[in-house]
Amino acid sequence: MKIVELPVAGYEKVVRAEEPEQGWCAIIAVHDTTLGPALGGLRMWKYGSPDDALTDVLRLARGMTYKSAVARTGLGGGKAVLLGDAKKDKSDALLGWMGRFIDTLGGKYITAEDVGTSVVDLDVIARETKHVTGRSREVGGSGDPSPFTALGCFVSIETCFEHLVGSRSVRGKRVAIQGLGHVGYWLAKHLHEAGAELIVTDLEPARVERVVREFQAKAVAQDAIFGVECDVFAPCALGAILNDRTLPQLKAKVVCGAANNQLAEDRHGAELLRRGILYAPDYVVNAGGILNISVELSPAGYDAKRAEERVRGISRSLAAVFERAKRQGIPTGRAADEEAQAIVSEGRARSPKP
Ligand code: NAD
Repeated sequence: MKIVELPVAGYEKVVRAEEPEQGWCAIIAVHDTTLGPALGGLRMWKYGSPDDALTDVLRLARGMTYKSAVARTGLGGGKAVLLGDAKKDKSDALLGWMGRFIDTLGGKYITAEDVGTSVVDLDVIARETKHVTGRSREVGGSGDPSPFTALGCFVSIETCFEHLVGSRSVRGKRVAIQGLGHVGYWLAKHLHEAGAELIVTDLEPARVERVVREFQAKAVAQDAIFGVECDVFAPCALGAILNDRTLPQLKAKVVCGAANNQLAEDRHGAELLRRGILYAPDYVVNAGGILNISVELSPAGYDAKRAEERVRGISRSLAAVFERAKRQGIPTGRAADEEAQAIVSEGRARSPKP
């Protein structure tokens, strides 16, 4: 294995590994470990070039620092990318090699599942390194993060109402959910049990039918979800859905969902503020998964009850972001970034690095 260190300003360590004879290439970026070891998933993707892979891993690693800081997971931010087609190029030999690469960082970077990798792949990686999380419950891991992500999203919606009208209750409120997959289904269940009215959509009719049947939701066509008369729009499907085409359609007072990278561009955060729509920043809302994993890493081991308590704490993090945004008159997404930077700076002041 040939490992090269790539100096990148603002990042603690960026390393690239190659196995020329096999054509294997991977990059690990450790953005910041002030608050703890850098945790972030391993993405396997068919990048156009090694430079594209580097750009992606740097962006994702910094995002993990911010997400973990605001959620107060006690972890830093990092990410790994494996260049290749997950459907064709993945093999136990390649994953084992990746495990040995991760191990060379001695625990500064801890890996987990991401796009193109699964819990089964993590088991293969774990034969070569102990710095792996998000494993199945059978081997003492934290299992499927989705119900925890959904719970975090539910308490975030309650927090939005508390911020706007002084009461957390969602009873009688109308929530439009886009995407009824792993997270959307559980979010619909929480909301229904708390007395909310649901309007839903998904690409897969069976998923829609189930939520209509179980939670008396009303189904609408995919493109109609943006213009629904409702209190909350909850994106739980795709990224970049808050854009020039969809924003003028929104009638909701609140946007709060689990999907990653909801704003097509940063300026759409300012546009939501201008329109008087409260945007709950995605990475604050969807931190339930990483909070669940952080419990797996605690010395006492994984405990679902403790994970739930930590996920409910997202409410406090989100309230702090809203307060900062209000105080400074800035978009909530920018306030979340500033909150993350402030938390990392406080950590740095408490324990300066040699
Ligand atoms: P999923 O793949 O299980 O579900 C996504 C659902 O969205 C699917 O049912 C799909 O059919 C539907 N969908 C896709 N395009 C759509 C469209 N145009 N209109 C309507 N529905 C559409 O994914 P998930 O695990 O539920 O995650 C949902 C989102 O939350 C993703 O953006 C994911 O990155 C993010 N997220 C998930 C977790 C987690 O714990 N699963 C954690 C953090 C963030």
